[in-house]
Amino acid sequence: MADPELVDVVVIGLGVGGEEVAGRLAEAGLTVVGVERDLVGGECPYWGCVPSKMMIRAANAIAEARRVDGLGGTAEVRPDWAPVAKRIREEATDTWDDTVAVRRFTGKGGRFVRGSARLDGPGRVRVGERVFQARHGIVLGTGTRPSVPPVDGLADTPYWTNRQAIEVEELPESLLVLGGGAIGLELAQVFARFGVRVTVVEALGRVLAVEEPEASEVAAAALRADGVEIHTGVRAERVGHDGRGFHLHAAGGAEFTAERLLVVTGRRAHLAELGLDTVEVDAGRRYLTVDDRLHVTEGIWAVGDVTGEGAFTHVAMYQAGIVVADLLARARRADGGPDPSGTANATGGASGTTGVGGSAGAVPRADYRALPRVTFTDPEVGAVGLTESQARERGVNVQVGLARLPSSARGWIHKAGNEGFVKLVADADQGVLIGATSVGPAGGEVLSGLAVAVHAAVPIARLRQMIYAYPTFHRAVEEALRDMS
Ligand SMILES: Cc1cc2nc3c(=O)[nH]c(=O)nc-3n(C[C@H](O)[C@H](O)[C@H](O)COP(=O)(O)OP(=O)(O)OC[C@H]3O[C@@H](n4cnc5c(N)ncnc54)[C@H](O)[C@@H]3O)c2cc1C
Repeated sequence: MADPELVDVVVIGLGVGGEEVAGRLAEAGLTVVGVERDLVGGECPYWGCVPSKMMIRAANAIAEARRVDGLGGTAEVRPDWAPVAKRIREEATDTWDDTVAVRRFTGKGGRFVRGSARLDGPGRVRVGERVFQARHGIVLGTGTRPSVPPVDGLADTPYWTNRQAIEVEELPESLLVLGGGAIGLELAQVFARFGVRVTVVEALGRVLAVEEPEASEVAAAALRADGVEIHTGVRAERVGHDGRGFHLHAAGGAEFTAERLLVVTGRRAHLAELGLDTVEVDAGRRYLTVDDRLHVTEGIWAVGDVTGEGAFTHVAMYQAGIVVADLLARARRADGGPDPSGTANATGGASGTTGVGGSAGAVPRADYRALPRVTFTDPEVGAVGLTESQARERGVNVQVGLARLPSSARGWIHKAGNEGFVKLVADADQGVLIGATSVGPAGGEVLSGLAVAVHAAVPIARLRQMIYAYPTFHRAVEEALRDMS
């Protein structure tokens, strides 16, 4: 066996989080090996955020055109999937080819290795026959894969995950969506707007179950208006495929049939394959346990979905910033430079004097209090921080306020497609917002002001003194504040 190659950092998995860490550390002058077994960039650009939002953009354009009637004349819309599939193939994914992404990384000075990596003892990573010894650290950015529920017969059928749904060139006549979470609802609405007969089956009592119940109601009503059948509280028991279509049998005797079945019931990390036992880390957990600087154990960090802190690209990028700062601080310490981490001798903030580049500000600690999330249905469901029930479970003295968009000035003017609301969740003792939901035509954008309020703990009294532009959707925030008093 070859001797280990000595490098500064090895990053396993070059998805959103891993690529960001590896690229920035390489740019700062460290020797970085990035290992990816599939496509550099990960799920988001090839089978996740980017292509799904292209699909949504197209589907929303169709829906808006259909709203012309009654507002500004008549419009005849003939949906056609071909330009959507072409755009995803050519503009988003280069036909699922990562040549450009690999060049992006190597152009920053990184060394790229294609393959499956696993830990091989402290500081060591094995990729096939090659072994790397990392001087400063190893970063795990290995993400998640679809989690398929143990439904009898399902594994033997040609069901779709998000990957086949994103790659589809010709739409089926009908589609069963198992799972009414964010991804399930986004894709269900897209396909329905292109004329597919869509049925959503959700085991829990409501769709978008992690968000406010009012958001679930509005989202379900919007999808139903698009012709989507939604069945909640229905547990799939058995699935069969007869060569032409799927038959899903549910507890209680209900049966659903469709040409295609899309399974979007969550995602899970595959820790058992990472060699964690060689560094004495428990691989039996659902996600890697990390501290607020994303440490897993001595010399190992993790970023992105594998940490279980929120399966969003913006979480992976946020965490990547912390890992980069922490690893650069460690590299400077190893090179005899000042320590900006705030964990050793307190010279934080001094600029680095060694060969390692990058800014040497204090290393931040992860704080997820104001974690924003958006479900890109129409209307969009934006949320930040805690929901009302989460706040109550934590024993907070909760105060809520709610304003409906259709009765706001802008909602009334907007008319067709104006469903939505702003809901605020406050800690009455502290006098600050700790959560908010903004559902509407621009729900994800209206969220930004609310995210600032939660993040910076802006006193509610100050929010009440603000001037809110007329007639915007975000003026509903002022109305919701009034509802809270
Ligand atoms: C349909 C869909 C829509 C989405 N929409 C949004 C959205 O609108 N907004 C948003 O914020 N998020 C969205 N997400 C979530 C987002 O895609 C993820 O949060 C993000 O991709 C996580 O990045 P990551 O780096 O943690 O993991 P990933 O992107 O999953 O990348 C992990 C990489 O590690 C590689 N890997 C794993 N194990 C190994 C190994 N042992 N050796 C080598 N390589 C390995 C994998 O091949 C993969 O490329 C969506 C997801 C889906 C599925």
